[in-house]
Amino acid sequence: MKKHVLILGAGFAGLELAARLSESLSDEVRVTLIDQNDGFSFGFSKLDVMFGRKAAADIWLPYRDISQRGVEFRQESVTSIDPESGQVTTDGGSYEADLLAVALGADYDMAATPGLEERGFEYYSTAGAERLSGVLPGFDSGRVLIGILGHPFKCPPAPFEGALLLHDQLTERGVREAVEIRVVGPMAAPVPVTEEVSQRFLEALGERDIEYIPKQHVVAVEPEGSARLASGESLPYDLFIGIPVHRVPEVVERSGLAVDGWVPVEPANLRTRFPGVYALGDVVALTMAKAGVFAEAAARVVADDIVAEVRGGEPPAPYEGAGNCYVEFGGGLVGKVEANFLGGPRPTAQLVGPSLELAAEKDEFGATRRERWFSS
Ligand SMILES: Cc1cc2nc3c(=O)[nH]c(=O)nc-3n(C[C@H](O)[C@H](O)[C@H](O)COP(=O)(O)OP(=O)(O)OC[C@H]3O[C@@H](n4cnc5c(N)ncnc54)[C@H](O)[C@@H]3O)c2cc1C
Repeated sequence: MKKHVLILGAGFAGLELAARLSESLSDEVRVTLIDQNDGFSFGFSKLDVMFGRKAAADIWLPYRDISQRGVEFRQESVTSIDPESGQVTTDGGSYEADLLAVALGADYDMAATPGLEERGFEYYSTAGAERLSGVLPGFDSGRVLIGILGHPFKCPPAPFEGALLLHDQLTERGVREAVEIRVVGPMAAPVPVTEEVSQRFLEALGERDIEYIPKQHVVAVEPEGSARLASGESLPYDLFIGIPVHRVPEVVERSGLAVDGWVPVEPANLRTRFPGVYALGDVVALTMAKAGVFAEAAARVVADDIVAEVRGGEPPAPYEGAGNCYVEFGGGLVGKVEANFLGGPRPTAQLVGPSLELAAEKDEFGATRRERWFSS
């Protein structure tokens, strides 16, 4: 009997794990990959939608194109997870897993910031980015406030990419001087993985007259253009764009896997405290950035750990939380943050570029994943 590996969530982590297991273990395990959606899109593609460079339909990668030996995809919503027994129920049936991988990502808690849905915008979902793409071309003057509403959040550079690209769009439209752009967030500095990286971001923002307001937390988006801060003060806005509060999906919360909001794991191999249950990607409680490249790197370690478990081999080299994150600086230029969160006593990171070569490298990054995950 082949062991059954059940992967919950077909995002960066789930797709890479399924691809790895198909490559290395398809004779020994059968894999079921479950996601509530009928397709995947890269996080960074939402910037393309927000600025009207692509339509939402153009960034959608349908799961029906997954064709990997030993992997069966099911479009279903996970409704309960029992990590003790490995039993999972969905709106389409129930499953028993020998090995369970929880890769359900992070959800957005829009209600955590009163007024965000009614008076604000966001580009962390495709629908939100689409909505914003309809508003930005008509915004000619006033104050744009980009508020980071909680921590942790996906892709630490993404709020700043939004600001830098907005600067470009307004400049091209000849209205930049009539618009103030400010980013406000709880962190002491933008992208605070290292001081050097933060400094590079501060310089890029400063060169474009974009202000970062540190250590401030917007708690409500109030009427009449006022964003209330936790300190009791408020900041004015004409257009409010929020990076929503993140949380684990509700089904993860109910499963008992999460502690203090996120799922604790062994950093070295992404095992949870429940035997045979892994958690990987944005859903985990590791003190490191939430990004697709790290989710993908985690999937490689989990796949190797499963191979060792099934074949009885050596455990893999420990997960280092390492990867390269591409960052859009505007003008077609892309930089790359090369980071390693867990490999040493403290995180290391450096910002390379930005350059046109790295823009081509980022395109290549997307193309290789599309090819690898969505074609046989
Ligand atoms: C604007 C923006 C820009 C970004 N840019 C970058 C970047 O340049 N580089 C980078 O590395 N990362 C980037 N990211 C972050 C990246 O998208 C995420 O960190 C990454 O997708 C996390 O992978 P994951 O597999 O953990 O979760 P996800 O990719 O979010 O996948 C989780 C999956 O679980 C599914 N799911 C959730 N609940 C259920 C349920 N109950 N039943 C069934 N299925 C469910 C979801 O549908 C989803 O497909 C960006 C994100 C945003 C928003």
